[in-house]
Parts: sequence; structure tokens; C-alpha cells
Amino acid sequence: MNAGPQSRRGRAGMPVAVIGGGWAGCAAAWALSSRGIPVVLHEAAGVLGGRARRVERAGLPIDNGQHLLVGAYEATRTLLRTVHGGRVDPGLDRQRLEVVPFARDAAAVRLRTLHLPPPWNIAAGLALAKGLGLGERVAALRWLKALRESEYERPGAESVDAMLASLPSRVARGVFEPLALAALNTPTDRASAQVFAHLLGRIAHGPGAADFLLPVFDLSELLPEPAARRVEARGGEIRLRSAAVVASASDQGVDIHAGGGTWRAAAAIVAVGPHQLAHVFAPGVAAQPDVADAIEATAAMRYESAATVYLGLRERVRLPSRIARLDDAPGQWIFDRHDALERAPDAAAARALRGLVAVVISAAGAHDDLDAKALSGRVQAQLKRLKPAFPVAVWSQVIVERRATFACEPGLRRPRTSAIGPRLRLAGDYLDPNLPATIEAAVASGEAAGRAVAHSLAG
Ligand SMILES: Cc1cc2nc3c(=O)[nH]c(=O)nc-3n(C[C@H](O)[C@H](O)[C@H](O)COP(=O)(O)OP(=O)(O)OC[C@H]3O[C@@H](n4cnc5c(N)ncnc54)[C@H](O)[C@@H]3O)c2cc1C
Repeated sequence: MNAGPQSRRGRAGMPVAVIGGGWAGCAAAWALSSRGIPVVLHEAAGVLGGRARRVERAGLPIDNGQHLLVGAYEATRTLLRTVHGGRVDPGLDRQRLEVVPFARDAAAVRLRTLHLPPPWNIAAGLALAKGLGLGERVAALRWLKALRESEYERPGAESVDAMLASLPSRVARGVFEPLALAALNTPTDRASAQVFAHLLGRIAHGPGAADFLLPVFDLSELLPEPAARRVEARGGEIRLRSAAVVASASDQGVDIHAGGGTWRAAAAIVAVGPHQLAHVFAPGVAAQPDVADAIEATAAMRYESAATVYLGLRERVRLPSRIARLDDAPGQWIFDRHDALERAPDAAAARALRGLVAVVISAAGAHDDLDAKALSGRVQAQLKRLKPAFPVAVWSQVIVERRATFACEPGLRRPRTSAIGPRLRLAGDYLDPNLPATIEAAVASGEAAGRAVAHSLAG
């Protein structure tokens, strides 16, 4: 750890405080320090990454939850490239958007987008999809065309289910519902059609935008930790296990209270999760109108869980694709995470295992009532039912994030501004009204906050 914040004076004088070391906070810290502004980043937990972070089990670095990025994550991909010395999509395995069933099933829908300019990549994938009749494929293409012609706009109050109602049910159930559930982490009967339509618009825009990008680094090592190393190298400081509070904020600066002391920052970026926002401000700051509005907006948000069941196997399994579709009873998707074993060959778990898969269950549901052992048992029984030859798991870890994301519901109100004070900004995955809670939303908001603070200090 470096010397105290008061000892460093960069171009902007006092350091800027970043509160929260998730992807938004780390992106903000990177944006500031790469403009020569020293940063003191406070993170309440012992590891950086927030809701997209590394956890260790039996010495094995796995993720707190299986994540999937897409080619349309422009802000994230650009930042990762800069952080990793110009490498394109570092730590990410790229493959085409696919809905491929885990088990052979003639009735199941099988879709693979093609390497064509959008929207033809998705249109051709739909036109050639297996498990759909000609009429169903034509209806799907017409529906996509109409969506494109509407410029991916849907009524603000509409649910995804209502948006998909005009599609043949096998197209809705086999293709768009699972994609919407995974992307919005909200059951489709109460998920926002508007946000889903925007996402479809983004992935239909530009070559490779629809591709899946699968992390093959642990999530903390993908962005937060290299970003933090750079922050320290540029005269900044990372304070782990340091819960901070904004004690006062004015156009003179921001007082940060943490670890029993208070220090004066030139400005502060508050990059905590929406459910944590109300606890970050002292009462006098919380009463300022834009801060109060943000607290009110986040207080009205509801949350969805996300469960990841890791299963260790004595043999390497070959899935039909690195990500394959299950039948939702209860697992929704299965990922090959063999990469985690390769990264830590000396971990106790890695020495005993040859294969590792992660089964994902997005959003709240009946599975939330099961304890870890029961949920793992259900998932293992599901895999056996779908593919009787699938090997028995010899190791299992269940990670349930109860507040994985805000529920992305129709008409959800977001804070009216992220500039909540003259020297105080918000960053986080909940700010962009067109996006669900994603890494991309977090990174884009963090960068924007960092840029804006740097600009205001220069002015
Ligand atoms: C299981 C799971 C699966 C997911 N899958 C995907 C996916 O496939 N694709 C995708 O794009 N997104 C996915 N997400 C969502 C994505 O992880 C989040 O949108 C993103 O990580 C949010 O980043 P953030 O920085 O805005 O907030 P957070 O990650 O919540 O960061 C906030 C940080 O602030 C810290 N903090 C809080 N209060 C204080 C305080 N007073 N002082 C100091 N620090 C404080 C917290 O400890 C935390 O580290 C998933 C999330 C989960 C949980």
C-alpha cells in the first residue's frame, strides 16, 4: 500500500475518491489515473470485482457467478484491450451466438448465427435454425424485420412476454425467451421489452456484435486487478476492506469517512451497487436533491438472484458447444469451465479433477428455496436425465448471489442524473435506462464518470 492520500498531489491536486471496487469503480479509477489524476479507491470487500469477482474454493479460482459477454460490449472490450496492452478481447473466448441443446433432441431448437454482416448474421441463423418449421422461421424473420423497422423501440410498459406474443411459441420459447432471461436476469413475464429490444438492436449492429465472449480468466484478473495495479503505479491507492461514507460534499471538495478517519478528496465517484447506495451518504449529503432522487430511485428497485452450480468431474467432457442450452428444470445453460483447472493446476481441486462445468440459473424461482446440497443434487439429476452417460460429479460448489442484479422491469425508474453534486458522481450498472445490469453498463458508466470528473477538475 502507498503512503496516505494527502501525501500525493497530482495535476489535479488532491486525489479523487472512488467508493466501490466493482467493474464500474475500477473503470472510473482507470479513467482518472490514465489522465494523471491520483485515485484512492475504497472497497468494502477483501477482493476487487464486486458482483463479477474471483472466489476461491479448495484453492481453485472460480467466479462468483458464470458471466457471458457479447461482442456489442464496446466500452468493456475497448477498456480490456487498453488494460491488457492492446490485446484484442484478452481472456475472452469468442464464438458465434448459439442456442445449442446440451442433449440430442430432434424437437429442440438449434440456432447458430452466421458470419455475415448484421442483421443477416441473425436472420440467416433463424432461417437455417433446426427444430423450427418453415412457417415458424418465416414468422421469426418477419418479427425481426418489424423490430428493426421500429428501430428497436417498444412501449415502456410492455413485458418481454407481451413483446414475444405474436411469435410462434416454439420460436419464443426456444430462442428469445431464454436469451431475454439470461440477458435481463428477470423472468420474461415481468422483464422490460424496451430494454430487451435495445439489446437486440445492439447485437444487430456491427460485425461480431452478436458473438458470445466467454471469460477464460478469473473475473477479478480480467479487469479489476490489472486496473488497480495501474492505479497504484500512477500514484493512487487501493484500500481493501475499507467501507467508506461521503461525510460532506461541496464545490470545495468531498470529505470521505473510512476506517475511523476522514480525508478530503478533490471529488468522489460513488460506484456501489444500487442496494448499497443509501448507506454511503451521511444524512446531510443524502438530503441534497439529486442525491435524494438517486436514493429514492434505487430504493424502489427489486432484485433477482442468480445461481451457479459448479460440478467437478473425473473426466473431461465435450459439450456440443462451450455454452449449451438445458431445459430449465432447473438448470438453464451449461458452460465448459475446464479453463479454471488449467489456470490453477496445483490447486487441490484441480489435481483431483479433469473436467469442470458451470450450470447457470438466472432470476428468482422455486430453486431459491433449495439449500446448496439440494440444488446441486437437482442439477446433477437433470444432467443425468438429459444425458444418461454424463459423468457423476465428484466435487460441487454452489454460489447463489441473492442480489445479483436489479429486476429489469418495464418502466423501471433510474436516477435522473449521475452528476449528483458539483464534485460528486455516480457510477454503476443501474444508471443507463436502456441497459440491464451488465458489466457493459457498469464499465461505460464508470468511464463516463471518470472522464467527467477529470474534465471538471481540469476546468
Ligand atoms: C451471478 C451473476 C451473474 C451475472 N452474469 C452476468 C453476465 O453474464 N453478463 C453481464 O454482463 N453481467 C452479469 N452480471 C451482472 C454484473 O456482474 C454486474 O452488472 C456488474 O458486475 C456490476 O458492477 P458494478 O461495479 O456496477 O457494481 P458492483 O459489482 O456491485 O460493485 C460495487 C462495489 O462496491 C462495494 N461497496 C459497497 N458499499 C461500499 C462502501 N460503503 N465502501 C466501499 N465499497 C463499497 C461493494 O463491495 C462492491 O464491490 C451477473 C451478476 C451476477 C451476480
